Order: sequence, then C-alpha cells, then structure tokens
Amino acid sequence: MKTNNLGYPRIGSNRELKKANELYWAGKISPENLLAAGSTIRKENWQLQAENGIDLIPSNDFSLYDQVLDLTLTLGAIPERYQEFARTNNSLDLYFAMARGAQKDGQDVVAMEMTKWFDTNYHYIVPEFTKNQKFELFSTKIIAEFIEAKNLGIITKPVLIGPVSYLLLGKEKEDGFHRIDLIEKLLPVYFEILNALQKEGAEYIQLDEPFLALNLTDKERNAITHVYNEISKKFSSLKIILANYFDCFGENLETVLALPVHTLHLDLVRCSSQLDDILESGKLDNSVNLSLGVVDGRNIWKNDFKKSLALIEKAVTALGENRILVAPSCSLIHSPCDLDLETNDATLTPEIKQWLAFAKQKIQEVSLLKNLASENISVADATQLEANIVANNNRKTSKLIHNEKVKNRVASIVESDSKRNNTFATRRQKQAEALQLPLFPTTTIGSFPQTAEVRSWRAKFKKGELTQAEYDALLKKETEETIRFQEESGIDVLVHGEFERNDMVEYFGEQLDGFTFTKNGWVQSYGSRCVKPPVIYGDVSRPNPMTVKWAEFAQSLTPKWVKGMLTGPVTILQWSFVRNDQPRSETCTQIALAIRDEVVDLEKAGIKIIQIDEPAIREGLPLRKEEWANYLEWAIKAFRISASDVADDTQIHTHMCYSEFNDIIQNIADMDADVITIECSRSQMELLDAFADFKYPNEIGPGVYDIHSPRVPSNEEMVHLLKKAASVIPADQLWVNPDCGLKTRHWDETKKALIEMVNAAKKMRVAASHLETI
Ligand code: GLN
Ligand code: ZN
Repeated sequence: MKTNNLGYPRIGSNRELKKANELYWAGKISPENLLAAGSTIRKENWQLQAENGIDLIPSNDFSLYDQVLDLTLTLGAIPERYQEFARTNNSLDLYFAMARGAQKDGQDVVAMEMTKWFDTNYHYIVPEFTKNQKFELFSTKIIAEFIEAKNLGIITKPVLIGPVSYLLLGKEKEDGFHRIDLIEKLLPVYFEILNALQKEGAEYIQLDEPFLALNLTDKERNAITHVYNEISKKFSSLKIILANYFDCFGENLETVLALPVHTLHLDLVRCSSQLDDILESGKLDNSVNLSLGVVDGRNIWKNDFKKSLALIEKAVTALGENRILVAPSCSLIHSPCDLDLETNDATLTPEIKQWLAFAKQKIQEVSLLKNLASENISVADATQLEANIVANNNRKTSKLIHNEKVKNRVASIVESDSKRNNTFATRRQKQAEALQLPLFPTTTIGSFPQTAEVRSWRAKFKKGELTQAEYDALLKKETEETIRFQEESGIDVLVHGEFERNDMVEYFGEQLDGFTFTKNGWVQSYGSRCVKPPVIYGDVSRPNPMTVKWAEFAQSLTPKWVKGMLTGPVTILQWSFVRNDQPRSETCTQIALAIRDEVVDLEKAGIKIIQIDEPAIREGLPLRKEEWANYLEWAIKAFRISASDVADDTQIHTHMCYSEFNDIIQNIADMDADVITIECSRSQMELLDAFADFKYPNEIGPGVYDIHSPRVPSNEEMVHLLKKAASVIPADQLWVNPDCGLKTRHWDETKKALIEMVNAAKKMRVAASHLETI
C-alpha cells in the first residue's frame, strides 16, 4: 500500500505567496525575489509531505497565479492579443498580463477570462482557442520543478491537467470548430513533456481529468480513450495516475475501466459508492491500481477513520494491498494549510478544534490510515485510532450543535414564506413611484476599496489597539467620504462601501450562531486572493441585527437611496466549510431564515433597496446535470425565503459573478429579485446570448467593466457594451454598474472608472431620448 497526495496548498502557511505577488505587482520586489518566495514554499511543502509519510508527493501543483494558466503557457496557447506584449516584456510580466491585464508603456491588454473551477470557489484562467490553434512547448515549468525537487532529494510525481480536460476547460474564440478537435495538435506537446519528465527520472505522472465527473459527449469520451491509449503506447514504463474528483464517473465508468493506465484515483468522499461499482463490475484490469480518495480535500472535518478503513479494507480484500493507494479525495488546495496554527481558543474552542483537520493534518491522516490498514498496527497508531473515534463521537452528541428552536422554525416553513406579496409587474410600478430613478440607473455592487489603511484599522481593533468607538469613528469617516464621492460623481443608488467587513461571508458568519472561525484558515480563491471560510458546525440563527447600524448611518448622510447589503444564504453556505452531518439544503434553509430576519430589520430601518448577493449560486450546481433540478429547487427557494418578507415597494437586488449563467437563466429569473446585477464584462457580454431567446422579466445590470483588473475602461467602451445589452433587453430594464465589488481596487482607478461609467449612462440617456430604439 502507498500514500498518494494530489496537490498541496501553494499559498504558504502564512500566505507568503500572496504577499510576494502583491509586492512584485507593486514594483517593490524583483522577479528573482518573487521566484525565490515560490521555491521556498515548494521546498517546505515537499519536505512536509516527505516527513509525514507521503509516498507520491506532487510537483507542479505549485503556481504563482493559477495552474490552468501555467499549462496554457506550457503549451504555448498564448492568445494573439498578448503577442506584442510578449515581445517587449519578460515572461513573468506576460504571465501576469494574461492573468490580470496590463497597462504599461502605452500597451493596454485586457486579462483573460476567469471562471470557477468546477463546483469550488477556486477560479481559473480560461484558455482561449482558435480554429488554427497551435501548441508548442513554451514554458518548461513542470520540468524545472521536478528537477528542483530532485535536487532536494525528492522524486516527485508531476501533476498535470490531462489533455481532454485542458481543452474542455477552455473556450472557442471563433466559430467553425469544437475545441476537442484540437486534441491531435495538442497531444505531441504532452508527449514532449512526458518525455522530458521521464528522462529526468519521473516514475509516476498524475494526469487530472476532472471532466470525467461530468456528462461527456461520445466524442469527448472517445478523446479520452484515444489520448490514454496513445500515452500508454508511447510511454509504457511511465506510471500514469488518472485522477478524477468532485463526483462519480457516472456513465463514463465503462470508458475509464478500459483505459490502459497504471492507477485510477477515485473521490470516495463525493462518491463513496464508486468503489463498489468498480469492484462489482468485474471490469477492472488486473494491472490497474486504485487510489482511494477517502480524506475530504474540500472540507475541514476530521476524517472518520472507521468509515475510511472499511472502504480501504474492502479494496484490499478484493485487490490486494499492493494495488491500493490511500489519498485525499482531491487536491488539498481547497483546504486551509495547518490546524496547528490555530492557537486562539477564544475563536476556535478546543471542543470544535478536535473535530477538524487542515491540509497538513489530512496528510497525516492519509499516512495514518495506511498504517492502520496494514497488518501490524503500532501502539501509537492504535492510540490515534482511539482518539479519532472519541473525537467523532463527541461531535455527534455535542450540545454545541443542536438548537431545537431553529429546527422547529425550519419545519414550519410554508409555501407563502418564499413568495413576495405581489408579482413583479405590480412591485415595479410601486418601486418606480417610491424610488424615482432615472433611465439607466447607476449603482455599484457594494464594496469600495479596502485600502491598507482600512485593513490596518481592523487589525488594530482586533488586537485591542483601537477601542470600538475609535474604530467606528474611522469607519464612519471612510463611509462618509465614499457617500460624498458617489454623490459628486452622480451615481444614483449609493452603497456604504462595506469598510466594516473583512469578507462578505465571514462578516455575517461572525454574527450568526452556529458558525466559528479560524485565524489562519486561508484558501486560495484566485491569484493572490485568499478567503478564510467560516466553519458552520451547528444549527444557524441570528441573535442580533447584523448590518442595520451601518446601513442606517449611511442613509442618514444623503437624500439619495443607499442600498442595504447582505450576502445570500446560498453564498454563505457555498463559501463556508459546511457541516457534513446533515444535508446542505437543511443548513441553507437555516441561513435563509436568519437573512430574512435581517432583511425585515433593514426595511424597518427605512432602507428601501436591499441587495442580497448570491455570487455563488451557479457554482453550487452539482457537476452532473441529473442532480441540478434538486439543487436549484432548494437553493432558489432559500433565496426567496430570505427576500420575500418585505413590502412591494422595497426593491430587492441580487448580484452574481464569475459564472456561466446562460444555462440557468430561467432559475435566475425564478429568484424573482427586482433587480439583478451580473458579471459579464470580461466575456464581452456573452451572457447576453441567453437574452436573445429568453425574455428576462425583471430589471438587470449587466456589468459594464471588469473590476478584477486595474485597467480603467473608457466611457465609449462601456457605451458599446450597454448598446449591445440594449439590443436584447429593453432599455427601461437596464441598470449600469461594474461587474463586481470594488474592494480589491485602488481609489484612484475606482474613481476614474466610476466617473467614466456615469458618463456612459448619461450618454445612453441622451441616446434614448433621441431615438425610439437604441
Ligand atoms: N457586495 C459584495 C462586494 O461588493 C459582492 C462581492 C461579490 O460579488 N463577490 O464586495
Ligand atoms: Zn461579484
């Protein structure tokens, strides 16, 4: 039996990578400094895994920004618009220009599109393909990192996204072909990579094909068969580990079982029945090993050893010890780094802490499981097993978890709780009268720049260096300045700026019962952005109002409308570590009731426009289509429960970003928010294709500029996008807004961009008054 790890967090236990990247972008450290920060993290990760008994240690799981972008560079799939930039800049700057866009020395390139990695909150950079796409070995990062580890005395298992999934992760940038048709052009570069790795002494290679968890077409499935047969023909002595995760193989299982690979990795957390399916099929070739993903790479709960050992023992009985690997379910980049760094008993009590395991602990669990599944168990390991059983039992029966009141409230929900009093048509009229907004009303998504200064206040407040009154006074000043800027620039619906919030989920979690927090439980979201998801360990309820004070304060400063800002139940669920002892739908409904109480309190405080952000609704979709309907039903209902207890003339907004919405547009309409603001600027309003056939019933603000890039767009660009929008959506349904919150931006670019945006709206109003149709 061996231990196998699929990937280790690359941000560093103390977010060293984030810090180094941001210093580099600010011009404060050299390229050499940045690269050195990366190699320190890699070294620590490799050594940690080696010391903790991992046999197959991954390499190339590190990335400065994103592993898909790394692969795009490795394969030389650099879009045309970066060619000029590539000629005059170093490869690091080219890499970051593709990731983030760049304005430099008169050059102005926009970033590549970014989207969510399957059903996670990790975002990857979407490859772009043309019909005559060429591939060449452009970056040798994967080989360099293998050598780097070898020089440290560690022979790693290079990890690479498989060719079929790589193509499927991308997008066709012109008509007339399907990206899977590029496979023949792509394969030779993979061969080149495998060849180089083999020459350097690689024995195992992990190829990730997570699309095997999705519904594939015959053509895509055939591509899988073709690719792995070709690889096996050419590299008969390389041990290929084909990794699938996040769901079952489903109808792809037959194809997978016929592949000539060395090992199949299974995600037995998301799909525990997969092992039986495979063993009972009788179709697993005698030469194929199984890597059993029993330790949850997506959550923070301590493994249930008894359960995992039962699975491992079943596999060992059927196949023999030598054919079994023990592993986490997926890459650990979705887990925080190290529970040992959680030393603050006040935030994370010892009782809860004993139920948890982060990446380092998961590595230890994997090793321990291997030991426990072998013939001779040491006394020390047996003690660990005992401790695991005790901790899991303690969690099941803990008083911290169960709240009867909450359970009863969920049980007594009735149909009308998820319905507004009247239809949108009626509400719209009442809202128009009450709110008196112009055509093409302008607004923002909520947050304004969280400057280093603002963050330093919070840090000082947490350390006790600022009193509550001092901290509040600083935040009030910042809020007031933000209100003034919005008034001066002519924005119609204002926001308070969210300066009091660390994170849109954590802020709420901190005020809800049933949640707890980590001090250092960071997980990469995209590039240098990390999130620290709260831990939902028990029944959720809202002891006190959470946002009313700030909303009231901001509204008191201005005669214009200030939007109340909330995070929706699905997003809170999706971006937290969720308890695994009850269905997600149950937890989501509990959160919905808590948000509902907050919405009602905001309305009572005179807030007429309330935004309930649900950026994560799309990413919560199960990977397999057959499970969509069930998810959408409870998720949309949860949103509606949170939004429905208000008067007709209270306007409910929602916001969504970074997803493909076209396939769930009907469900988004079913949420029945009065206004939705939605991301689409990076993909040049591709979203609007959906509106050609689908008449979106309510009001909508398709984002007119990309806030994930420091680039300042011109008003002409935004007018262009708005005209595109107005060609498929009636002008009187359109709002004008950026595509997401502004908290990661600097004030300077934010101000310029918003002034341009208001100008764009003004131009649209003029155009609308001159023409019947725009
Ligand atoms: N209101 C949030 C903000 O502006 C929304 C963020 C998001 O969509 N991710 O920061
Ligand atoms: Zn957003």
